[in-house]
Amino acid sequence: MQIIDGNKVSAQVKEEVRNQTLELKEKHGITPGLAVVIVGNDSASRVYVNNKKKACEAVGFNSEEYALPEQTTQEELLSLVKTLNEKSDINGILVQLPLPKHLDDKAVIEAINPEKDVDAFHAVNVGKIMLGEYDFLPCTPAGVMEMLHSYDIPVSGKNCVVIGRSNIVGKPMAMLLLHENGTVTICHSRTKNLAEVCSQADILVAAVGKPKFVTADMVKEGAVVIDVGMDRDENGKLCGDVDFENVKDKCSFITPVPGGVGPMTIATLMKNTLKAAKLQNNISD
Ligand code: NAP
Repeated sequence: MQIIDGNKVSAQVKEEVRNQTLELKEKHGITPGLAVVIVGNDSASRVYVNNKKKACEAVGFNSEEYALPEQTTQEELLSLVKTLNEKSDINGILVQLPLPKHLDDKAVIEAINPEKDVDAFHAVNVGKIMLGEYDFLPCTPAGVMEMLHSYDIPVSGKNCVVIGRSNIVGKPMAMLLLHENGTVTICHSRTKNLAEVCSQADILVAAVGKPKFVTADMVKEGAVVIDVGMDRDENGKLCGDVDFENVKDKCSFITPVPGGVGPMTIATLMKNTLKAAKLQNNISD
């Protein structure tokens, strides 16, 4: 069994982004800029936003944070997005989800200029991913693919099972595995015989949001297990969707939580922001 080290792979990705950012500054005088918008006081969101800010600093981007109060109206938020769309020194706009309940996150995402939508959540970018002709890939699924590549784990022809069908993880994850010629099954809360379906997987991706949901009986001997979950166990400790201790010895590769998919999501966000800056300035790689 080998542990897939998300900290190591993400450090390599960020190093590459840092080098390309330096080059972009030296050759073209351009510094990529990311605007991060956070509304309200969700503590998990605050941690994610701080980590994104730190990553921007590490790779040499400018980052701007817009922390809005909980009672912000839809009009105020849309007006901020419009301003950021027009700001030439901002190449990427990220609105941290979830938004407070009175706000319409779909409308907010659709208001972001697709060229600045570095999360790849806008319908235009989702459609492009479906067609396989994308500029940006959604950060978490793309981070997972980067990990598989980094460890030379082949996808083509493999049975891939994704548990979860959210728009931000499950669905695009399945699509990216399909693009690389995996034979993909998507499972969700209505799936029958879930354990049996999962136990056929050569590559099993868990994006459920339930602590230690994937147990050893659901995992095939020698499978690659990718744990997207960011959950809390009974003691409030961060854990994943996979019962790591009991599953790990059955796997050929497994990602830990923390230190697995999480850091890859942020590294991909940096990649996307760099790409956005290049595209908006007509600079090819
Ligand atoms: P979500 O929107 O709540 O989706 C969860 C999915 O799991 C749904 O499709 C749901 O099915 C399915 N599900 C729930 N219970 C199930 C069951 N008993 N059997 C089979 N499927 C079941 O969650 P998400 O936003 O995709 O996030 C999933 C997890 O990933 C969370 O822990 C989240 O914190 C984590 N996450 C991590 C990162 C990262 O950077 N590492 C990024 C994003 C999310 P239905 O559709 O039928 O309801």
